[in-house]
Amino acid sequence: MKANKRILIVDDDPEIRRLYQTVLLPDSTGDVIAKSAGLFGEHTKHPVSAVKTHYVLTLAANGEEGVRAVESSLKQRQPFAAAFIDMQMPGINGAETSKRIWEIDPNLKIMIVTAYSEHSPDDIIRQVGRDDLFYIRKPFKFKEIQQFARALTSQWNLEREKEELFAALQKTNTELTVKTEQLTDSLKKTENANLRFHDANLARTRFLSLINHELRTPLNGILGFTDLLHGQFFGPLNEKQLDYINQVDSSGKRLLSLITDILDVVKIDAGELELEIGEVSARDAIHSITAIMSDQFMKKNIELTTSIEPALPPVIADLKKFRQIMLNLLSNAVKYTPEGGRVEIRADRDNDSKIRIEVSDSGVGISDNDIEHIFDKFYQSDYVYDKQLGGVGIGLALTRCLVEIHGGSIGVESEHGKGSTFGFTLPLKEVQEQQEGTQQDEGSGTVAKEQHGHRILVAEDNETNLMLLLDMLSIQKHTVLVAKNGREAIELAQKHKPELFLMDMRMPVMDGLESTRRLRAMPEFAKVPIIALTASIGTDAEERQMIAGCTEHLPKPIQTKKLFEVLGKYLK
Ligand code: ADP
Repeated sequence: MKANKRILIVDDDPEIRRLYQTVLLPDSTGDVIAKSAGLFGEHTKHPVSAVKTHYVLTLAANGEEGVRAVESSLKQRQPFAAAFIDMQMPGINGAETSKRIWEIDPNLKIMIVTAYSEHSPDDIIRQVGRDDLFYIRKPFKFKEIQQFARALTSQWNLEREKEELFAALQKTNTELTVKTEQLTDSLKKTENANLRFHDANLARTRFLSLINHELRTPLNGILGFTDLLHGQFFGPLNEKQLDYINQVDSSGKRLLSLITDILDVVKIDAGELELEIGEVSARDAIHSITAIMSDQFMKKNIELTTSIEPALPPVIADLKKFRQIMLNLLSNAVKYTPEGGRVEIRADRDNDSKIRIEVSDSGVGISDNDIEHIFDKFYQSDYVYDKQLGGVGIGLALTRCLVEIHGGSIGVESEHGKGSTFGFTLPLKEVQEQQEGTQQDEGSGTVAKEQHGHRILVAEDNETNLMLLLDMLSIQKHTVLVAKNGREAIELAQKHKPELFLMDMRMPVMDGLESTRRLRAMPEFAKVPIIALTASIGTDAEERQMIAGCTEHLPKPIQTKKLFEVLGKYLK
C-alpha cells in the first residue's frame, strides 16, 4: 500500500495557510518565513530545513470549507491522513469543524491549533466529543509542525496497515473456520462410514461364522456317517449301496472343499486370513500330497513323475496352505488331463531367495482367450471339456491369493491341446539358515529333517483321516512320511528309517497288523514304536495288535491331545 501523505489545513488566515505550505512542501521560500517570523515565534536567521517527505496539502479558509474537502476526499477515495485545524475562525470554530469532520471520516488524525491562553484542551475535547485529538499552542516552531505532520500521517498509515492485516487475519480465520467445519463434517462422515464399515464387518464375520458352522457341521455329519457306513461296522452293504455311499462321500467332500475355498477367498479379500508361517520342507509336502492323490492318478492311469532338487532348503510358508496350493494345481492337472496322460512336478531354486515349483500336464491345455482370465474368481472357459467336468472356477483364484500372501507369484504357460505348466514361487529360508538347513539335511537321504521334529511314518489310506493326522503333526513340526497301505509303509521305512509309526489297521493291499508283524521281524524296526490307529474298540482287538507287535493303541477319532501324549512318551 502506498503511504497516504494528504494533509488538510483549515485556517482563515491566508498568511498562515501559506506558511504551512512553506513548512511542509519542499520548495519553500525564505521570503515567506521572514514575514511569518512574528506569528510562529521563529527567527529569520534560522531558515526552515528542507522537508524530505512529499506531502499533498489542501487548504481551506474556514470550517465549512474544511468539512466539504473531507467529504470530497472520501468520494474520490483519497482520504486525508491528517488535518491541522485552527481553533478560532469565523463561522464554525475548530472544535465544531473537527466534530463534523470526524462524523464523516473518523480515521482522520486531527491537530487543533490554538492561540496562547485560548480554550483549554479539556474544553475542546468536551466540544468535539473525542479525546484522541492533538493540540498545539501558537506560537509553535516550524520543526514541530514538520514533526507532527510526519507523526500524524505515519500513525494514520500504520492504523490502516493494522486494519488491513486484521482484515486479512479475519479472512484467514473465516477460511480456517470453514475448513475446520468441512473437516469436522468429513470426519463425521468418516466416522459414520467407519461405523457402517464396522457394522458391515460384523455382519460379514457373523455370516462367515454362520457358513462355517451351519454348513460345515451338517456336512461333517454327512461325511462322518458316510465313513461309518462305508466301514460296514454294523453289517455288510451290497455293491449298489456301497456305490451310492461312495457317491455321497465324494460329493460331500467336493462341497466341503468348495465351502472352504470360498471362505478362504472371502477371508483373504478382507485381509483376515492368518498364516501359520514356519519352515516347510517342500519335498515332504509334495510327497504327502502326491501320496494322498495317488488314487486319483491311478484311476485315470496318469503317470506322475516328481523331480526335486536334492539340496533344496526349507521354504517359509504355512504348511496347510502350501499343501492346498499343490492340491489345487495337481487336482486341475488330473482333471484336465485325459486318461493315460502325464503329470510332472519339478521343484528347484528360482534364485537365491525363492523356490520355484512347476506342475506340468499333458492335458487339454488352455486357449489364448482363456489364459489371461483363469486366475480370476469364478472364471471358467466355455470349453466343453470344462462343462463336463464341473467346478466353479474358484480354485486358481484362491491358489493365486495363497501364493501372493506368501510373497510369491504364480503364472501359467499352455498350448491348447498339448498341455499346461503352472509355476509358482515361494520364499526360501534366509541364506545363512539355508546353509545350516542343508548341512542338517546331509545323511538324511531324500527327507529333509525338521529342526525340532521327528521323522514319523503315517500309514493311512483314508484321505480325510490322513489330512487330519498331517495337520495335527504339522503343529509339532514333525517330518512326515506317508504310506497308503502296509506294503508302502515297509518300503518307505526301509528307505527313510522313521523314528515312530502311526499305523492304520484297516488298509487295502496289506493291512496294519500284517505290516507291523513284518516290520518287527526286521532287526532295525524291532524296537521302533508302532502306534496302532483303529476304529475297533474292545480288549480283544487291543490284545491282537499287541501280539502283532504294536507299542500302543490310539482309538479313532484321534484327538490331538492324546496323539501328542503318545508322541511325547516315545519320542525323546
Ligand atoms: P475349476 O473349479 O473350474 O477347475 P479353477 O479356478 O481351478 O476352477 O480353474 C479355472 C479354469 O482354468 C478351469 O475352468 C479351466 O478352464 C482352466 N484350467 C485350470 N487348470 C487347468 C489345466 N491344468 N489344464 C487346462 N485348463 C485348466
